[in-house]
Amino acid sequence: MKIIIAPYAGACSGVKKALRVTETALIQCRDNIYCLHDIVHNKQVMEKLYRMGLQKVESLEKLIAGDNLIINTHGTGPFTYQNAFSRGVNIIDTTCSNVRHVQKLAGDLANDNHQLIITGEKNHPEVKGILEWCHGYPIVTKDINDMLSLNIKADSKIALISQTTFSLSRFSEIAQHLKKYCPALKIYQTICRSTELRQKGILEIAGKVDTLWVIGSAHSANTTALLGIAQNYHPDSRLIEDADEINIDFLYGINTLGITAGASTPDWVINTVLKRISGLSKNYVGYTESLGKHSSF
Ligand code: SF4
Repeated sequence: MKIIIAPYAGACSGVKKALRVTETALIQCRDNIYCLHDIVHNKQVMEKLYRMGLQKVESLEKLIAGDNLIINTHGTGPFTYQNAFSRGVNIIDTTCSNVRHVQKLAGDLANDNHQLIITGEKNHPEVKGILEWCHGYPIVTKDINDMLSLNIKADSKIALISQTTFSLSRFSEIAQHLKKYCPALKIYQTICRSTELRQKGILEIAGKVDTLWVIGSAHSANTTALLGIAQNYHPDSRLIEDADEINIDFLYGINTLGITAGASTPDWVINTVLKRISGLSKNYVGYTESLGKHSSF
């Protein structure tokens, strides 16, 4: 069996930076570093950070002056900053610059009285943060069917933006649909370059492999977007959260396996999966080909 690793598979620059900053903080001062949400949506990475001393709290009420709060790559709303400031809690901010851009854009458009539509998951921390920066009433959708029931006036001031890790094809489907009803629609495609490259990376290998495995966590938006794309080409594509879940039956009938990984999946997690596959049958895995292009995205 041959394995082909898709271009740009794995952790993006934003995640790598957040992990560097968090690990450095934990090495320097392990006792009072807290987070409200996962630093990145990856189970193994979070387990490692907890072992290093990171503590997760439900709310800022648990923290006292001098404690340190890590804001994750997905960012947060202004209330968290205000609350932390008023308690004397230090902020270690790893919000990705792409997310910051969307927060600012959403705030500016809302201040300019636009009806805002955001493509994304309404319960995702990034989207919740963006909503807090808007003073309007944005509509959050991830499905073109939601759009069918919207009563949008053709002459309204309306703008479309996206969660940074949304599916490119679904965004463009929703944009095209909305444009029919509202020709004045302003479209801001704010899906980040790292997400775009990973989604396009799948397309580069989909025709060369028998099936695809996407390594990452089920609660990672960019990972599930990759899985959706993979399943369009190979319906039997799998999400692999943990190397230990792989058994020999998974490999049955595969001559060429395509592998990609979400932007929140570090290389060491990908390597545990590769090791597990070769460990299952040393003769079974012929060789691994990476199409490279890891770059700084
Ligand atoms: S996926 Fe995009 S927005 Fe999210 S951390 Fe990575 S670069 Fe930033």
